[in-house]
Amino acid sequence: MVYSLSAKSKRILKNSSSGGAFYLVAKYYIKILSGVVYGATCEGVDVYHKRIDSLRQIKELQKSKYVKSELRNVFFEVKSDLENDKYVLFVGLPCQVFSLSKYLEIQNISNEKLFCIDLICHGVPNKKTFNEYIEKKFPNEIIKKIDFRYKNPFWQEYSIYIKTNKRNYINYKFNDEYLASFLKGYNLDDVCYNCKFKGDNRKSTITIGDFWRVKSLYPKFYNNRGTSLIVVHDEEKFRKVLDYFCRHAEIHAVDFEKALKPNPSYFYANKKPTDNFDIVLKDRNTNFKQKIKSIIKFIFKRL
Ligand SMILES: Cc1cc2nc3c(=O)[nH]c(=O)nc-3n(C[C@H](O)[C@H](O)[C@H](O)COP(=O)(O)OP(=O)(O)OC[C@H]3O[C@@H](n4cnc5c(N)ncnc54)[C@H](O)[C@@H]3O)c2cc1C
Ligand code: SF4
Repeated sequence: MVYSLSAKSKRILKNSSSGGAFYLVAKYYIKILSGVVYGATCEGVDVYHKRIDSLRQIKELQKSKYVKSELRNVFFEVKSDLENDKYVLFVGLPCQVFSLSKYLEIQNISNEKLFCIDLICHGVPNKKTFNEYIEKKFPNEIIKKIDFRYKNPFWQEYSIYIKTNKRNYINYKFNDEYLASFLKGYNLDDVCYNCKFKGDNRKSTITIGDFWRVKSLYPKFYNNRGTSLIVVHDEEKFRKVLDYFCRHAEIHAVDFEKALKPNPSYFYANKKPTDNFDIVLKDRNTNFKQKIKSIIKFIFKRL
């Protein structure tokens, strides 16, 4: 089954990348099942997986971080939680969920109380690429906070927001060199161009992503603060959270083919572009400046 979902709470939508699917499952695992949640957090420039067990900590894991998350020793912690009979929610990229599942299988640990969410994954830049961008763009500045999915002006047309000790940097997604390069597939880690964790080759309970083109495909389900797409792989485990979703979100069943067509990253790895991004970016900026110049000329001619 495939669903569209938008949380009813505006606060949840504001703090989520898309429709807040992750937040609601995390709340269910902590509040209703007294369980624990693992996901990626961002502290300064460090992106890493951490374990949380309280509602107020969920915010630390919300939002997409467009850099590879370090797993540190979380697999070991997940194993230990499951051995202690705890309910566990683990969220990560498809390759991370796959590795966790293999690790637990080898360790002979039951996954009955484990719920795994993987993301529709376009690929991710590695830490070295990210550090180079930060050092070049923010020399001698201390990074305090990064929001890779700052919903400004709105969900689909987002910006990057970086707070340093000196300024607040906000730039539209296609005008920031790191984000534009990521979205166009130029700066991904080499392994991502040959990713095998696509289509059905997943070990997650559900896959979540942005419901691109929902506005034209299912206008009634569109929310400009964010709409998530959910693909269910384990119906039995999902049924338990579905009731909770129905109470706290607008959720609707949608057609698999139709909903996933605008999101090829669910099925295929990104192809490595052969041209040079710096040249593409320069051309884009020149074209943009030329366009503005010709508009100004046109206005003055008419005056
Ligand atoms: C690198 C990357 C590429 C993506 N590519 C696509 C795509 O091509 N198409 C698409 O539809 N969606 C993509 N997404 C997913 C999308 O951006 C949203 O994360 C997703 O829709 C969930 O939104 P939400 O509102 O439910 O959750 P949010 O509240 O935004 O939570 C996001 C969850 O993802 C986890 N997470 C965030 N960053 C990372 C990371 N770097 N590594 C591991 N886990 C992380 C967090 O722990 C959190 O649990 C991508 C996400 C990432 C991180
Ligand atoms: S594209 Fe594949 S290998 Fe790259 S981060 Fe996503 S799941 Fe992992």
